[in-house]
Amino acid sequence: MIESTDNPATDLSDFDKDRRNFCISCAKYSLGIAVATSFPLKLLAETTSPFAPYKYTPLKSSFENDYRNKWSWDDVTLGTHNLNCWFQQNCLFYVYKKDGKITREEQVGNYPQTNEKVPDFNPRGCQKGCSYSDFMYSEARITHPLKRSGERGEGKWEKISWDEALTGIADKMIKAIDENGTKSVVVDPGGNIVNYLSFYSLFRFFDFLDSTILDINCELGDDQQGAAVTYGEISNDRSGDDYFYSDLIFIWGGNPAYTQIPNFHFLTEARYNGTKIVAISPDLNASAIKADYYIPVKPGTDSALANSMAHLIISEKLYNEHLLKEQTDLTFLVRTDNNKLLKQSDVRKDGSELVLYRWDKKEKKLEIPSQSSLKLDTDPALEGEFNIKTYQGIVTVKPVFEFLKEQLKEFTPEKASKICGVAPDTIRKLTTMLVSSKAATNTCTSNFSKFYHGDIIMRSQILAFILAGHLGKKGDGFVTCSFLVADGGNKILNEFELTKDLRYKYLFKYGTPFWLNFFERKDWNQATYKYVLDTFVDSRFMANSTLFWNLHGGISDISERTNEWDPHLKRDIKEYINEMKAKEWQVIDPPLNTDPKVYFSWAGNALRRVRGSQKLLTTLWPKFDLVVALEMRMSSTATHADYILPVSGAYEKTTVMAANTNTLSPFFHTTQKAVENIGESKDEWEIACLLAKKIKERAKHLKIVNFKTARNNTRKFTEMYNKLTSSAGEKESELISKKMTEDSSNLGGISWDKLKEKGYTRFTELGKNPASFGNACDIKKGETISPHTWHTEKKEVWTTLTGRIQFYIDHDWYLELNEQLPIHKNPPTAGGDYPFTLTGGHARWSIHSIMRTDPGLLRLQRGEPFVLISVKDAEKHLLNDDDEIKIFNDVDYFFSRVKISATVQPGQLIMYHGWESYQFKGGKSARNVMASPLNPIEMVGDYPYLKPVMAVRQPGQSDRDTRVEIEKV
Ligand code: SF4
Repeated sequence: MIESTDNPATDLSDFDKDRRNFCISCAKYSLGIAVATSFPLKLLAETTSPFAPYKYTPLKSSFENDYRNKWSWDDVTLGTHNLNCWFQQNCLFYVYKKDGKITREEQVGNYPQTNEKVPDFNPRGCQKGCSYSDFMYSEARITHPLKRSGERGEGKWEKISWDEALTGIADKMIKAIDENGTKSVVVDPGGNIVNYLSFYSLFRFFDFLDSTILDINCELGDDQQGAAVTYGEISNDRSGDDYFYSDLIFIWGGNPAYTQIPNFHFLTEARYNGTKIVAISPDLNASAIKADYYIPVKPGTDSALANSMAHLIISEKLYNEHLLKEQTDLTFLVRTDNNKLLKQSDVRKDGSELVLYRWDKKEKKLEIPSQSSLKLDTDPALEGEFNIKTYQGIVTVKPVFEFLKEQLKEFTPEKASKICGVAPDTIRKLTTMLVSSKAATNTCTSNFSKFYHGDIIMRSQILAFILAGHLGKKGDGFVTCSFLVADGGNKILNEFELTKDLRYKYLFKYGTPFWLNFFERKDWNQATYKYVLDTFVDSRFMANSTLFWNLHGGISDISERTNEWDPHLKRDIKEYINEMKAKEWQVIDPPLNTDPKVYFSWAGNALRRVRGSQKLLTTLWPKFDLVVALEMRMSSTATHADYILPVSGAYEKTTVMAANTNTLSPFFHTTQKAVENIGESKDEWEIACLLAKKIKERAKHLKIVNFKTARNNTRKFTEMYNKLTSSAGEKESELISKKMTEDSSNLGGISWDKLKEKGYTRFTELGKNPASFGNACDIKKGETISPHTWHTEKKEVWTTLTGRIQFYIDHDWYLELNEQLPIHKNPPTAGGDYPFTLTGGHARWSIHSIMRTDPGLLRLQRGEPFVLISVKDAEKHLLNDDDEIKIFNDVDYFFSRVKISATVQPGQLIMYHGWESYQFKGGKSARNVMASPLNPIEMVGDYPYLKPVMAVRQPGQSDRDTRVEIEKV
């Protein structure tokens, strides 16, 4: 029994005495048990009766020794996993080796605590990482080069030598480039490029050949368009421990209990601090059950909820006026005659299109907001109406805020409730919580970019948070995507042939000071426009994958049926596409008059992840003379390849995790070679070099030495190997990661040897890679990372046209589609007007999909694809748990088992992500019914900051609006 004391912690001598008494009691008790149990054990050894308990005879090799042997090892190295687990990436593991084989892995758990007031990062890990060694030795592992011996997809393969494979591939590549141009070779990167070796090898190899490199972020639906247009950047996030400073956390549209397993503890620990967690999602998912409040919302209607909260904040004047004036475009003036932002070119004939205005309340005149600082020297009007003399005559203008206020009147809680299904009083309560919170944030999710109207959902969410005053403080502000990368990778630009071709052009065009400023983030706003325009669109550095699959791959047969499903479109979708093509707003490669001939799946998996991918097999695949898959295991795409090249796994090479490192866990990791490559697998750099060497040999043999790039420069196939190996020999792949690490300015100057010894290091600053810039904050020793403080504290401008958080976009298409402000539009009936909405999300078992077929992980679930269905719908359709159903719409059909679940709302079906096509009956997967209609708003260009750059502001694929019907099989 525990007796209470007034102050039990003050007298430590008493505490020790009590503890000693307790231990003595325990010892006596244990001794008692030992005496009591010794007698029956003796009996066990002596009895011979067949009815007596089993006779215990110690074995020569006792189970204790078996157990000890199991847990002994010859060697331990440090490692992590190249699985593209993104928001949860980077967990350091001990990797144990015995008799030349990995026997197990174990979390290290030695991450430092940032300061004593916040929880530490331990433990980091998940079940995928813990079973990685099983996966690397599994039967599914591809260990030798394979060449198909039957038809594509027939499943017949023969083992061949590396030399045979490389010769076959090199010959076809040389001929394709010679006959069809460099862009006819297409490479599709996969999640595996999170390891720098893979990333570097892919870009160096295909850059030299001037190939079409697909930009996969949009294909995945991770493009976060709403953040890109509002903040100007998508990457802005806090470190996991910064949640401890939040008093209110929204899990709005994500499921971090599945997708951020090593980070989720920060949320639950924050609750010890009094933090309230609100989960908003259609289903009562694994994260929602841990929340203080769960708000069920109808799929795809979150913008109605967010706009209603915004309406309440404005109508009850609960907003932070200073913050709106300083940080947002809500004071910028808009003409009432054409709904365009008032520009200097309206006021003066020689005026700039990029100079905008506010109304100075004190001076009662137009003012030009600074584009270099957010500091408020005036008091710009948030409300009012003003007549302005333009060279076209007098026009009436109003601040954006007035337009917003007017539009939001449509979103009273009662009206919004009818759309989103959240009760009016709940909307009011949520709004009160948000406004009265001292520090409110949300968890990062890529969910909403997988909705057709995901951009307006995200714009509306940001609006509600900004109106409530949440931005740029510890634990405070709406975050969108997590990126924090080591900037040593910038040096790769010096090795690119593409940038070499262009470097002088842009160097001379803008001069060295411009480029220095760019990387120092000075004059950042203007530099961004130029960077975007010139180095991405103009250089055609990477091609938009969604448009590739549509325009070359035949997906357009489905995705261009947008007008059938979206009643808001003003024109035929083809008109928008033609305008986008004519104005060259997006990067489409190969050019439309060139067929793709060679397809390299660099650990990608288009046939699994492209929505409507069944079309690719009938339209695109016949165009290919060669399909190569670089793989560890048999993916849906590899099954339809001509050659499969076996690539080594995470514990078979030394590299660093570099492409998807993130702010949530701000650590940079290495993984180290623990065992020899399995079978004949090779690391990515060796494969790239050997193929380059073979191309050199075969080019001479075929007498095709030169080739012309798309820019009409001449290069030699025979020079490729020497160029590549000038930075690292084919067996020197470690050198690549070493250089990258030691060239990085934001890793505290750690040496390669020290990094290998420790396994990780903490980021010390954002560094000079643009992918990290959106975080916009200093990283200080002993402090958590809170994004956007450069804007709130240093008053740095945002990378948008207005230099502010931009809610108003006066691009012609935005105005035409009535999306100039955050609004709500009902989701399209993608696939036909059917009663069920098929949604999804990452599964607990498969971040990312490479682990989806792992037998060990399949044993922990149902072992085959299933959809979650509500109890009510199951009853209505007379379904029992595990019954098989056909799921269909106007696009196609597939079969699945059902899992009846009380967590799903009626009218919703959930199929978690990542199943391979061959795991479904007849090879038809859930992707078969996903229409992914093209949304014109994602194709816009010709607007200062709305142009594609790597990974964002490009059309993406969507799937969460898919409508289907079901029938019992
Ligand atoms: S797979 Fe990713 S989340 Fe899981 S343990 Fe490895 S690095 Fe961590």
